[in-house]
Amino acid sequence: MSVVEKEAREAGQDFIRDIVRADLESGRHKSIVTRFPPEPNGYLHIGHAKSICLNFGIAEEFGGHCNLRFDDTNPTKEEQEYIDAIRRDVRWLGFDWGENLFYASDYFEKLYEWAEHLIRTGKAYVDDQSQEEMRATRGTLTEPGTNSPFRDRSVEENLDLFRRMRAGEFPNGARVLRAKIDMASGNINMRDPVLYRILHAEHPRTGKKWTIYPSYDFAHGQSDAIEGVTHSICTLEFEDHRPLYDWLIENLPVPSQPRQYEFARLNLTHTVLSKRVLTELVRGGHVAGWDDPRMPTLAGLRRRGVPPAAIREFVRRIGVAKANSTVDVGMFEFVIREHLNRTAQRRMAVLRPLKIVIENYPEGRCEEVEAVNHPEDPTAGTRHIRFCRELFIERDDFMENPPKKFFRLSPGTEVRLRYAYFITCREVVKDATGDVVELRCVYDPTTKGGNAPDGRKVKATLHWVSAMDSVPAEVRLYNPLFTQPDPDVANFATELNPNSLEVIADARLEPALARSKSNEPVQFERQGYFCPDPDSSPDRLVFNRTVGLRDTWAKVSAAG
Ligand code: ATP
Ligand code: MG
Repeated sequence: MSVVEKEAREAGQDFIRDIVRADLESGRHKSIVTRFPPEPNGYLHIGHAKSICLNFGIAEEFGGHCNLRFDDTNPTKEEQEYIDAIRRDVRWLGFDWGENLFYASDYFEKLYEWAEHLIRTGKAYVDDQSQEEMRATRGTLTEPGTNSPFRDRSVEENLDLFRRMRAGEFPNGARVLRAKIDMASGNINMRDPVLYRILHAEHPRTGKKWTIYPSYDFAHGQSDAIEGVTHSICTLEFEDHRPLYDWLIENLPVPSQPRQYEFARLNLTHTVLSKRVLTELVRGGHVAGWDDPRMPTLAGLRRRGVPPAAIREFVRRIGVAKANSTVDVGMFEFVIREHLNRTAQRRMAVLRPLKIVIENYPEGRCEEVEAVNHPEDPTAGTRHIRFCRELFIERDDFMENPPKKFFRLSPGTEVRLRYAYFITCREVVKDATGDVVELRCVYDPTTKGGNAPDGRKVKATLHWVSAMDSVPAEVRLYNPLFTQPDPDVANFATELNPNSLEVIADARLEPALARSKSNEPVQFERQGYFCPDPDSSPDRLVFNRTVGLRDTWAKVSAAG
């Protein structure tokens, strides 16, 4: 059993799984087919992960299959780059569509045929009204709409006009094909919705073949029916579209009868999951690209070092419900941290180095100390680190005039260097401007391994690297892109956090980190979880902070 299958078995109960189970038990369906239907107009984000885990998860759990279907009906916004990225990201998340890769554009001919079917049965008509006129006659939530003056065209005239629309005779926006349902319906989606619009645009897959394109509503359910989808699971905003979904399935000679079910989309605090805004963040240069580690995209999370299993675990824990809610992004980070705490090996890295010289350690000498790779997993083994006379410690771990509760290094205090010795600071060296540039310390040779034979204790253990063989690196720390918990999507540019990226140019890492692989996140002891960034080159390492060791969101919210 694969990890994903195992997770699927352990997946929680929810109302959609209850429906699927009941449909199998009652014999309504012999096997289950679901689909994940992204529009290739952007990269996938953590919200899509919820839908992917649900659709692929249900298929695996109940022995069915899940289709990956590109909902590519709007050629002005869709690109091959997005198709490729979506395929890569679904696979990375741990799911496999096997043979079941489809495109709504593969069904354009069939959909066209069905549109003519609706015309012939008197259930669709060509409307010459402009967009504004249609909007003005649609009515409101409390008032019915009014019929279009073109509503009662003959079947012949409708067929002729629709065929000429297809032939490219009319400019964009000149006419549309509408379903003839009910302009007085309480549900605005049923007030003669648009099925086809004219669009002279080249499509990534069908090229110039089409000058009319089906609407989402016309393409979606019919694509489900063609593929034999049994449960068409989508987010709540489509609940009001369900009557139209059902109307089209009832009024067309479709080969199967899919049903639509809605669940609540994922919302996260401090996070925008609107593809429109994410696109603007990329296009406007507010971030370095779709895979910028500050982005909530799967590509961004991957680059940041978030393991796919942590995303699946997060999605499992939030569950599937019917009511919209917002999940605290701190909970996402909690799950990532918990996962990495279990899986990431420990290393030492000094982000803001302060040099220390151990005056009573012989010049030119070096010794190896043994460091454990994972405190809770002995099978992860140990490694050797070189301890020498000159070391770097974290600048923050020293204070010349410490307040009462500061237990780390200060003049005269003794602390432990992890895995090595106790040291005491004897002298502070400053430059002309008064900045501390070096500490002169002494070590106690009897404390090798970090314990004093006389039983004396120290209050702090510091991480360190040796000056001689540590490797320099750039370390990128990420802060929330939006400081407000509920960013105003309309004015997102004014809400962007100017300090979302903090670059540390001259960190120092223990040598083993030079061999890190991008898919192997590590813990920098006392700092957090990090992984190499693809910007790394043989002579310049770059690391990303995936997540810190502690929850910083509480602080952010309080400050916000
Ligand atoms: P838009 O419709 O604005 O382009 P979208 O995020 O809905 O954006 P789609 O490509 O249509 O993009 O989404 C594919 C699938 O992912 C849909 O079934 C949609 O319901 C689901 N989905 C999108 N956002 C979320 C979310 N935040 N939580 C859960 N599912 C989501
Ligand atoms: Mg959508």
